[in-house]
Amino acid sequence: MLTPEEIKANYAKMADYEIENLAKKPKGLRKEIIPVLNDEIIRRGLDLELISWIADETNEFSETEIEKLKDKIERCKCPKCETNKEKIIGFEFQQMTSFILGSYHENYYLFACTDCRKKIRRKNLLVTFLGGWWSVGGIFGTPVKLLSILINSIFGKRKNDFVVRDFVSKNTAFLRRMKTPEELDSLLKSYNHENSKEYLDMPEDSLM
Ligand SMILES: [Zn+2]
Repeated sequence: MLTPEEIKANYAKMADYEIENLAKKPKGLRKEIIPVLNDEIIRRGLDLELISWIADETNEFSETEIEKLKDKIERCKCPKCETNKEKIIGFEFQQMTSFILGSYHENYYLFACTDCRKKIRRKNLLVTFLGGWWSVGGIFGTPVKLLSILINSIFGKRKNDFVVRDFVSKNTAFLRRMKTPEELDSLLKSYNHENSKEYLDMPEDSLM
């Protein structure tokens, strides 16, 4: 493991944009390296906002804060249908598609209300049912995947805790800076957007 002095020498050799990129994603940095990065930002006269971003982004959420956030998320608008009639919870979705040479398995995480969760699962089943068979592996894999999606939906295999933690780790600074409930709505929306697959938003009949 490099010493802070060695890291400092490495930082000195980097371009400004590389230092800025590092500052925008400081999560993996060791605690003792953060002051080294801050010094480098100051030395180069880069935007000092980067330093406050690093502080917020590396200010990890405690267990109590995560529990409170879960409650807040439950009361948010559903990022898919934009209503808040039901609790918003993080779920795991899965589907499979095949192309002659191989099959493509996807597991992804979204926040949704119960209604939207059911709709997405139906689409997962449809996409897998229509698109799963078209490879040698798919012929055997599709029934297994269909069964797995069904079991997942019957037992509601929630992954709320996992999804919330994933959401927090990808948005720490944004959450630290959050001032209004609407900001949480839009963070949930962009989390879904990043995790979502384009064809999930296609009407069902365009898949046939
Ligand atoms: Zn919904």
